[in-house]
This record gives sequence, structure tokens and C-alpha cells, in this order.
Amino acid sequence: MSKFLNERYRKLESYTPGEQPKDTVLTKLNTNESPYPPGPKVLEAINSREAANLRLYSDPECAGLKETLAKQYGMTKNNIYVSNGSDDILNFAFMAFAGGRTEVLFPEISYGFYQVFADLYNLKYTKVPLKEDFSIDPKDYVCQNKMIVIANPNAPTGKALSLYEIEEIVRTNPENVVLIDEAYVDFGAESAVELVHKYENLLVVQTFSKSRSMAGARLGFAIASEGLIADLEKIKFSTNPYNVNRLTCAAGIAAIEENDYYRENCRKIVETRSYTAEKLVELGFKVVPSKANFLFTKCEKMDGGELYQKLREKGILIRHFDSEKISQYNRITIGTREEMDLLLGAIEEVIG
Ligand SMILES: *Cc1c(COP(=O)(O)O)cnc(C)c1O
Repeated sequence: MSKFLNERYRKLESYTPGEQPKDTVLTKLNTNESPYPPGPKVLEAINSREAANLRLYSDPECAGLKETLAKQYGMTKNNIYVSNGSDDILNFAFMAFAGGRTEVLFPEISYGFYQVFADLYNLKYTKVPLKEDFSIDPKDYVCQNKMIVIANPNAPTGKALSLYEIEEIVRTNPENVVLIDEAYVDFGAESAVELVHKYENLLVVQTFSKSRSMAGARLGFAIASEGLIADLEKIKFSTNPYNVNRLTCAAGIAAIEENDYYRENCRKIVETRSYTAEKLVELGFKVVPSKANFLFTKCEKMDGGELYQKLREKGILIRHFDSEKISQYNRITIGTREEMDLLLGAIEEVIG
């Protein structure tokens, strides 16, 4: 830290991303990327003609991409916002919809970035403990008169609330934005998108990073009432209007046009998830039932940090969180069946 850093940021603890190893020999099951590459249309879309167009600025409205998404989700273009990854949208949403008298509420165990953004903007916030079984108790979020942020399914637990439970939270907090982060919704949870027609305070955030194999392209989108979308646009045009680059925009349109390819990949991942969960249970693990592309699991014979380290030595990366309440656990991304067999074999060796 230099002496020049504004006092406001001196105590800020930034987000720690999962490791991205330079060494591709490692089996990477730590950051919930898709094990499958983008589909053929995406590969075609980011061709040399599009690359030559990089001399031009991208479309700050992202009109084509918004129209494609709107059609896919039964919305109009004015209900869609696109940004440089969904983290970008979370950032803007914390900036735009909380502060002053508006406090924020989110689960104690959830996506680590929520707290970072809340600290970044100096917001007043409450972290609500999960139930014993790691589920969110929807009652804790009903009638709270605060901005609410919930990942559904939640990370790193993989547990999801039902659409009915989400609706109760949205319905009973009409004076505040309820942000539902659906980064993992394509792996089996119920999406809240249809509620956008009914509630002006609902902001649904999704991403191309997980189910659509494009984490490196950085593309996220939000679906919400025209008012909320206009607010996000205002922030974007006050910071970086070109925050979705040309290649990403083209890739995003192509991905929506080959949706069946990604749906099939999600189906395979869900199948591999059940297989992996079953095998882990056989090995004596506790496995939290998951609606996401990862499993939150506890080895009964070994501490989570130690298992992480031992597997790393064998070239397999999984995720471990230091936070006390979950330090016994690991989060394991679902890869291909072959990758999971490799993992299971390594676990057997490690725990003996
Ligand atoms: C991965 C993830 C994101 C971030 O996605 P990007 O679009 O890659 O920025 C947001 N929320 C949750 C809960 C995630 O797990």
C-alpha cells in the first residue's frame, strides 16, 4: 500500500479469486468453470473478421446482444442489462441501490464478493447465518426493508430456494431492490426471471461464465424492470460505456443462438454431479445436496485444508475456504466424468 491510497480504502479487504494456475497439467476443479469448451457458433463468431473490427469501439448499447437475450427470456430489450461479467453488475447494484438509509442483507455464508462490495461502498450490512443444514431461511429476509442479495443456488453450498420462497422475499420488500444472483441457475434451480413482469424491485443477475463456458470472455447480464435497468445503464455510462468488448458481444449472441448445446452440457454436468456425490458418500464424505455445478462436501477423516493441500500435491485443485464455520468443507467443481474419476481415485489414495 502506498501513502497515496485514499483513507477510505486502506482497510478494504479485496476478494480472493480461486487460483488460476499457469500450469495446465493441473486438474482444475476450483472455480466452477465449465469443463466443456464454447460451442461451434461461438468459435465461428470470434473470427478474424471480427478481430479486425477491434479497431472500432464496441456498441455501448450492446443492442444486438440485448435483443437476443430479450427474445430468449421473453422480455423486451429495455429489461436487459449486459456487463463485463456479473461481478460488474453486482458492483454497480451495490453502488446504485444501497447506501444512506438503505442497508444491505445477505447470507453469512455466500459469495465472498457481497461483503467486499458492501465494504467498498461503506454500506451498513447484516450477514444472516444459515440454518444448521446450510440452507437459507427465507423468513429471515421477509419484510426487512433493506436491500437483499441472495445467490440462488447459493455458493459455496449449492442449496437453492424455491420460486415461491423467492417471490415472498421480493413481494414483502417493495421499497428495496432484491437481487437474485443466478450464476448457477441453469444446473437445476428455479429461475426468478418470470417474476420480473410482476415486481419492479427484482433484479435477476446471470452470467455466461458457468453454464455457457465463457468465464474468460467476461459477460454477465441482468433482467429487471425498465427502471432498474435504466439505473444500471446510468452507472455504466458514468464509468465505462464500452465495458463489453466486441468479441465478447459477438460470442454472447452466438452462444444464445446455440442454447441447446449448453443445455446438453448442463444435463451432463448434473448427471456427473449425482455420480460424484454417490461416490463421495461411499468414501465416507458428507455431501450437501447441490443444484449447482459443484459439491460442498466434508471429508470425515481429514480437515478440509489438509485435503485441499494433499490433492494439490497430486495435481488436482479444489477449493477450500478459511472461514471458520466451513473450514472442514471443500467445494469441488463438477468436471467431466473422467476428471471426477481422477479426483475420486486421488481421494482414495490420500485418505487411505
Ligand atoms: C461465479 C460467480 C459470479 C461471477 O461471475 P462472473 O460473471 O464471472 O463475474 C457471481 N456470483 C456468483 C455466486 C458466482 O459464483
